[in-house]
Amino acid sequence: MLDDLRELYQEVILDHGKNPRNYGKPEEVSHHADGHNPLCGDRITVYLDVDDSGVVRNAAFDGRGCAISQASASLMTEIVSGKNLEQVERLFRSFHEMCTSDADVEADDSLVDEMDRLQVLSGVRQYPIRVKCATLAWHTMNAALAGDHDATTE
Ligand code: ZN
Repeated sequence: MLDDLRELYQEVILDHGKNPRNYGKPEEVSHHADGHNPLCGDRITVYLDVDDSGVVRNAAFDGRGCAISQASASLMTEIVSGKNLEQVERLFRSFHEMCTSDADVEADDSLVDEMDRLQVLSGVRQYPIRVKCATLAWHTMNAALAGDHDATTE
């Protein structure tokens, strides 16, 4: 990766880690789950407000953890807001693939901008122990959508 790109990515991660967006429990919550990554000690709770037509009206989180887990959760809440559940599922799969595989991830056209934004976290694939930090929020969101309130990785 080019050095200035790496620097830019780091800035975005630090910014979201320090000033997380959508932090705190919102008033309207239809789905929620607690996520725990014992490898690093990250703990987050994801809150979703999904309307009757299956669109995420609002996503938020709280909890504590390393900069990567916080930044990933912050970015995720911004990105899934306004998406329908089928798009959320596709984003989850593409993001997971991006974090775990060297192959170029084929995002479908409608989600290219979102995958571009998530690209800042792709550096974790070089650090397997960090992959769980980056994907914790997403696994937790998936658990919440499945009606499971506890998402502990490993
Ligand atoms: Zn972590």
